Amino acid sequence: MVLTQCKRRGIHDARVLEVMSCVPRHLFISGKSRDLAYGDFPVPIGHDQTISQPYIVAYMTQALELRGSERILEVGTGSGYQTAMLAELASEVFTVEIVDSLLKQSKQLLSACGYKNIQFLNGDGKRGWPEHAPFDRVIVTAAASSIPFALKNQLADNSLMVIPVGDYREIQELQVLRKVGRDFLKEESIGCRFVPLVDNKA
Ligand code: SAH
Repeated sequence: MVLTQCKRRGIHDARVLEVMSCVPRHLFISGKSRDLAYGDFPVPIGHDQTISQPYIVAYMTQALELRGSERILEVGTGSGYQTAMLAELASEVFTVEIVDSLLKQSKQLLSACGYKNIQFLNGDGKRGWPEHAPFDRVIVTAAASSIPFALKNQLADNSLMVIPVGDYREIQELQVLRKVGRDFLKEESIGCRFVPLVDNKA
């Protein structure tokens, strides 16, 4: 998975490749889908949600340019797999998930894995987590029709946000935004497909 799906497609950050090799992806997928854990595609995790394709997880994580000291806001905990990557590579992770049962499951798993630098919140991640802002990095793992204002507002100076933007029924744009002073500079983007960022608490 790491060599053929990530390295050969341009993932070059050695720390990202290392955690992709170490974090056991199959633990984050239960039932029949577990056999598909290392395939080159997203996999269902229940509640009509999916764990992102390995390459997309690697791409988003690399785009965050993590050095180890960052405080990160993650919107869309889902299976907790991306959360584990972030917890390995940064200082603190604040993760928000709208589906309570998914959050409980991920919290249990990530605690059992021994992660002590993750805080969990059940709620609408479009509001961010103001009590813990500002964040050095924001990562959103569901498609937004436009970038939520609260998330921009909770970014620290010289920070980065990675977010899929566009209609969830179509190909979306995975945007990387860098905040410099008061400006948001769009760095790069690739096409992607994510489940939608939902509006109301389920
Ligand atoms: N990073 C996750 C991807 C999960 S899919 C993984 O690798 O497993 C996207 C997740 O975003 C789903 O769990 C969904 O419930 C959650 N989500 C959707 N809208 C949300 C919102 N407004 N606030 C927080 N989480 C949301």
